[in-house]
Amino acid sequence: MDLATLARPQLNRRDFVKIASLTVAAMGLSQALNPRIVEALEQVSPAKPPVIWLEGQGCTGCTESFLNNLEPSAVSILLDTISLRYHETAMAASGHQADKALHDTIKAGGYVLVIEGSIPLAQNGKFCTIAGKTFVDIVRESAKNAAVIINVGACSSFGGIPRSGPTDAVGYLFRGKTLHHVFDDVGNKPVINLPTCPVHNERLVATIVYYLTFGKAPEMDSYHRPLAFYGKLQHDNCARRGQFEARRFVTDFKDPAQHGRCLILKGCKGPIAFQDCWERQWNQRTNYCIQAGVPCVACSQPEFYQDTSPLYAHDYDFGVK
Ligand code: SF4
Repeated sequence: MDLATLARPQLNRRDFVKIASLTVAAMGLSQALNPRIVEALEQVSPAKPPVIWLEGQGCTGCTESFLNNLEPSAVSILLDTISLRYHETAMAASGHQADKALHDTIKAGGYVLVIEGSIPLAQNGKFCTIAGKTFVDIVRESAKNAAVIINVGACSSFGGIPRSGPTDAVGYLFRGKTLHHVFDDVGNKPVINLPTCPVHNERLVATIVYYLTFGKAPEMDSYHRPLAFYGKLQHDNCARRGQFEARRFVTDFKDPAQHGRCLILKGCKGPIAFQDCWERQWNQRTNYCIQAGVPCVACSQPEFYQDTSPLYAHDYDFGVK
């Protein structure tokens, strides 16, 4: 989507109230904070905090997910509350003009850095280069002057699917440790991971709005994931948990009599997956994997995908044979 081809939206107070309500609900905050968030949005709207959105080794699914329907739309939020200075997929500029926008923003500092996609390290990072620079160097350079870093999706958080390929791809955390030689200069700035494959647009919007309102990251777990989204286990909150306890499992997807049973024998990784998909759902709260009859692949976890594949095989020891 080319943002320049869209008419510039104008968010009004009603839209800010909607964004505030979304944030309060998504983050599990008190409704009493609604006016404070609205006020913060009204204040930042004219100033428009700059945002750099980098994309490394990924499928652009997180960008697609973010631009998916929200009310007000993600595009409105992008254009009216933040200033998206650099985004390879969505920006109108290209070539030297785009490069200049990136470097001017980095030089000025104080921006929100969003990273999508993993960082390939093999062959000195040459699997992913932009304007002759490796993605490792682009991330290192962009991270230095950022105010906050938000890793969107499994790839930039933990390496995701590319981690299992030949490029030695990594995310911000690799096997539980920060990738220090890439993020060596980030200092004390907050780094927030929003894994799942792709990122959920509500989780990203609420995180950005939270940061704009309170000037800090929300409470996070040891993997830098906001507890509001990743603090509960899929398995403990699953509508099929009763089926699990009764040992009624799907063994044949084609058998209609097994519809609605627990999917653990088909590879469901719900017992290790911390997320709130069971509550938040996807595509404007229409559905999510397990409700659609598909096993959870634990894409919110650092183990995804290398250590959780094959996705649809039951080879984890959950104590169920
Ligand atoms: Fe739900 Fe999966 Fe747990 Fe079964 S194993 S109850 S389908 S999360």
